[in-house]
Formats: sequence, C-alpha cells, structure tokens
Amino acid sequence: MLTWFEWGSYRNRDLLYYRSDTVGPREIIELLLAEHALRELKQREEALKQRSIALQKAKAIESDSSELEDANAQLDETRKQIPRKEHDLYGAVSMLTSVLRKDYDSLRRNTKWFMRKEMVQDCSDRGGCCSRGCGCCSQRHLSKGTKGDGHCTTECWCCTAFRGFEISKEDKIDMVKDFQSRLERNRSGYLIDMADWFFSPLPEPPAVAPKLSTVASQTMTVIAKTPTKDMKTPTVTVTTKPLKPRSRWQKIFGRNK
Ligand SMILES: [Zn+2]
Ligand SMILES: [Zn+2]
Ligand SMILES: [Zn+2]
Repeated sequence: MLTWFEWGSYRNRDLLYYRSDTVGPREIIELLLAEHALRELKQREEALKQRSIALQKAKAIESDSSELEDANAQLDETRKQIPRKEHDLYGAVSMLTSVLRKDYDSLRRNTKWFMRKEMVQDCSDRGGCCSRGCGCCSQRHLSKGTKGDGHCTTECWCCTAFRGFEISKEDKIDMVKDFQSRLERNRSGYLIDMADWFFSPLPEPPAVAPKLSTVASQTMTVIAKTPTKDMKTPTVTVTTKPLKPRSRWQKIFGRNK
C-alpha cells in the first residue's frame, strides 16, 4: 500500500519525508503522544460523568453517598488536568512544519476525520467500540474548538462496561508505554501508518453514478432512434419553443401580422 510518509536519512539521521517536507520523527511522535493523552483524559472524564450519574440515581435508593463523593472528586481532579494536556497538544502542533500544519488543520475541518477506514479497523482490532455495534466512536466528533475526540482508549466507559471490569492503573500505564515504544522503534512502520492517518487528506468520495431512471430513459431514446432493416429512418421534428395558440389574425390571414 502506498503511504504519504516515507523513511529517509540525512547524515546518518533518520528522517521522514512528507510531500515537499522533511520532518524529524520526534515531532510526529510528540504530537501523537500528546493527542493520545488528551483523548484518554477526555474519555476518563466521560466515564466518571457516567459513573456519577449512575451513583446519583443509586443514592436515591440507598443512603450511602461516599462512593458518589469519591467519583465527583475524581471527576474534578480529571477536569483540572485537561488544560495541561490541551496545552501539550497545542505545543506539539505549533512545532509542525508549515506543510504538515496545513494538512493537519485541513483534515480536522472534517469533524469526523478519524472515522477513516484504517482508524476504524485499528479501533476494532484493539477491541474498541468499532468492533461492536454501539456506534460510540462515530458519535464522538470534534465540535469547533474542541480537541481530543476519537477512537477508544483504555478509559472508554462503554468498553469498560462491555468488559465488565476496569483495567488496572499499572496495566493502563504499561499499555501507553507499549504504544510509545512501537512509535519509537527504529524506522517504525507503525509510526508511518499513524502519521498517514493523522495528516494525509481523506480519499476523494467516489463520483456519483447517474440515476437509474436517467440511464433507462437515455437507453430508451437510443433504442427508439435506431432504425431496423424494415423500418424507415424516422423524421425527427425538433420543436424548440412550445406552440402558442393561433391568434385571431392568423386564423383569418394564415400568417402573423
Ligand atoms: Zn461503545
Ligand atoms: Zn469504547
Ligand atoms: Zn472506534
């Protein structure tokens, strides 16, 4: 498969080529990590919101409110971390070259850019919501000015509910480390794939096929005009203007005034 990014080297240093640009892999890796961290935190916020709502309902039946207080405290704590992660992503984006920045911004003008088929497949392969029929990912979309929406991380509340338990803190940290090490591997193919998904323009939608009724009527016209052996070529009268009713003058004199 053709990729937009390609590995190259200059003076023994590995570099990435993209269109007319030469980019250091570190800039791309930093951006991917910053985006992942923000997405993870936003999904954690969503999970805690859902938990808080559920506990609020349960509180109406049971009188114990300590769990609800704990969930709300965690929600507050999570929200406080979001500006920092948004700042990190902003920092990583600001370090991009002009060509990359232009494509990065242009891709995100489509609020569902992350629903490109490779990313949906990747989410499905990781056991995220795209592997089920819940439709969570397609409902997450970037409204103007927001960042960090996309496919499932270990913090997705729907994936947690489906699994039936929460992944331990240690495992979550390990999984992020594994993600980072796959990106940082020497001449990583995974980095090329991720960079392609995050920057390259979406494929053009296929051209719209003509409506069946139009095709049918055109075919019928051709058939009607094709003379057969025992059929004379029909004389075609072309009427460009609709006929007007004859005036009184015409009726008497047979011509126009
Ligand atoms: Zn889901
Ligand atoms: Zn999910
Ligand atoms: Zn997904």
